[in-house]
Amino acid sequence: MKITLLICLLFTSINSYADFSSVVIGHNTPVKKVHRAQNEIILTFDDGPTPGVTNRILNTLKKHNIKGTFFVQAENAINYPELMNRIVNEGHIVGNHSYTHQVLTNLEYSSWKQVVQKEVLDAHEVIAPYMTNAQHFYYRAPGSYWEPRFAQFLNEDEIGKNYIGPIHWDIGGKLEIRNGRVAKAADWECWRKKVPVNECLSGYIAETRQNAGGVVLIHDVSPQSAEMLERYLAILGNAFTFRTLDDLNLNDKK
Ligand SMILES: [Zn+2]
Repeated sequence: MKITLLICLLFTSINSYADFSSVVIGHNTPVKKVHRAQNEIILTFDDGPTPGVTNRILNTLKKHNIKGTFFVQAENAINYPELMNRIVNEGHIVGNHSYTHQVLTNLEYSSWKQVVQKEVLDAHEVIAPYMTNAQHFYYRAPGSYWEPRFAQFLNEDEIGKNYIGPIHWDIGGKLEIRNGRVAKAADWECWRKKVPVNECLSGYIAETRQNAGGVVLIHDVSPQSAEMLERYLAILGNAFTFRTLDDLNLNDKK
């Protein structure tokens, strides 16, 4: 009897690796590195798919024979199924990046569960048919806002408990200018502040070299980001090994 129980417990612990507190990064919590210093790059693309941008990024990835992860919004997946199909057919991973990109901050006590349900689990219903290339369900939180109560709520759900996330990033989080030079960059912030593509690119390259690789955040929303990726891979494509989130065993990084 005791041996059976022990085996059951072992089995349970082996299989309960995935959850919503695994790679938790949020404001007011220390940033945990996802995967630095291995000379490996993991490309991730958020907020799409977007016509005219995602297809261009897919062309670039194909040219370099690199697989990426697309953290899509469910409402975009509904609007652009042909882009979603192309992402999957070309072997990339699809992750969940919410339904409407609502940032999960300042949520009302009376309604936060409904919001999290919609933005994560209802989004999953839409995106799940495209998640076939990955070993796990991955989630990235809009704006990286996250709270332990969300993890607790989602881990009680049959689907939610199989997720790994929120997944943060190592490169591309913010624009930093030092002595007049772009030392780090975030594409959305570059375009908002009218930073030219080549300067934004130099920030991505500097941060990639400084960290010796890592999880790169790019948004497949603006054509400038697609252009920047082409140049980024032309410069770094042969200097780093390209991996996917599946290769990282993120469940071990709690
Ligand atoms: Zn986003």
